[in-house]
Amino acid sequence: MNFIEALKLRSKLLFIFIIIAVGLFFIGIMGAINLNSMKKNLDSLYFGSLVPVIELNTILQTYHGNLASTIYKAKNMQITPYGVKSQIKLSINTIDKEWKNYEAHFRRDGESIYVEYTAAEIKATNQYFLGILKALEDGYDAKDLVIDNVEKKITHIHEVINKLINYEVDVAKYERKTFLNVYDSILVKVGSILGMVIFSVMVISYYVFKSIQIDQTTLEITTKKLKIANKKLESASYTDTLTGLHNRRYFNLIYDREIKRAKRNHSYITFMMLDIDYFKQYNDTYGHIKGDVALKSVAKIFKDILKRPSDFVFRLGGEEFGILLTETAESNSATMAGNICDAVRAHEIKHEGSKVNQFLTVSIGVACCVADEALNEELLITRADEMLYRAKESGRDRFSITTDISIATSHKVDEARLN
Ligand code: GH3
Ligand code: MG
Ligand code: MG
Repeated sequence: MNFIEALKLRSKLLFIFIIIAVGLFFIGIMGAINLNSMKKNLDSLYFGSLVPVIELNTILQTYHGNLASTIYKAKNMQITPYGVKSQIKLSINTIDKEWKNYEAHFRRDGESIYVEYTAAEIKATNQYFLGILKALEDGYDAKDLVIDNVEKKITHIHEVINKLINYEVDVAKYERKTFLNVYDSILVKVGSILGMVIFSVMVISYYVFKSIQIDQTTLEITTKKLKIANKKLESASYTDTLTGLHNRRYFNLIYDREIKRAKRNHSYITFMMLDIDYFKQYNDTYGHIKGDVALKSVAKIFKDILKRPSDFVFRLGGEEFGILLTETAESNSATMAGNICDAVRAHEIKHEGSKVNQFLTVSIGVACCVADEALNEELLITRADEMLYRAKESGRDRFSITTDISIATSHKVDEARLN
């Protein structure tokens, strides 16, 4: 059923619709054909057998009840000569009419020989009675009529017509049986076509819905994968490839967000600007590749110290880093800056070109304040930058901190810790 799976949803539903439509069309055609054949059967049963039997019975009835009884009455003088004549004429007319009707019906093969024979017999019988009529009109006395002859004629025609009636009844039985068989076979045919259509629709629907389900699952998996890929892409676009720290793009995003939050909550916000001391000389001494390794080590030291989820470390460019601390008071920010200086120095990355220490060191400018609506976020960065310059100027391997954005103070690391 790969064929169904390959179809689009709309085509799948169209496919089911076509199957149903074709099925219903076939049921309609079959129904029409079979109903037509049932109508034919019913017609031949009713007009080919049952109605003819009624007509033949009427003819028999007329022979017995009208013609024969009129002759009896005439012989016994129970009827007027006029009555006799009119009864004979009327009866023969009735018989002729009924016979014509009978002959007009649908005839089966092989029937006509006996029908023609019966017609000849009826004609002869009628001639016989017309002969009696003529004799009576010519003055023949009704008392002299021979009843035996009349009875013989009636018995004979009765047998002839009765044979035809029995034949028609047999045919009617046969037609009825055929009709019932046709009816049963129609039921079976329509039922099996209907069953086939329902079964096909069920099978096709099963595969269509299964394939829709597969599509749905594939779509869900793809969406999930896409989401993960997007997240990775987003995270990659915010990550510095060398150090694995957040990059300047992410800094712009987070700095804005955290400043806004601090302004709303009137809480502490600390921004630190960090720069490696005499890094140019480091590269010159050890080469760029070693310089990169040193950058990675420093970045790791920063990450290890700043563990709170609300602390952010960024590589802003080259050997310059930024740190954003939230809800950290001045004293804690100063301790943190001192710890960072100590940790980098304590890592003992050999730096022979440095003029302040035999190991690699950093200088930090710290700007810390309680945020309010009036806080100028650009100024916080400028002050941190100024504090960094001051730390460099005061001898490097230290931090300078300010809380009053307009006034900056500078401390040697150890002094700052004592304060
Ligand atoms: P100061 O103490 O005044 O900061 O001195 P400095 O030598 O660090 O001064 P400066 O900021 O002028 O020098 C920065 C050097 O950092 C220059 C460049 O060679 C180096 N640098 C910048 N980015 C990278 C980097 O991705 N890898 C390496 N290995 N070095 C870099
Ligand atoms: Mg620099
Ligand atoms: Mg530097």
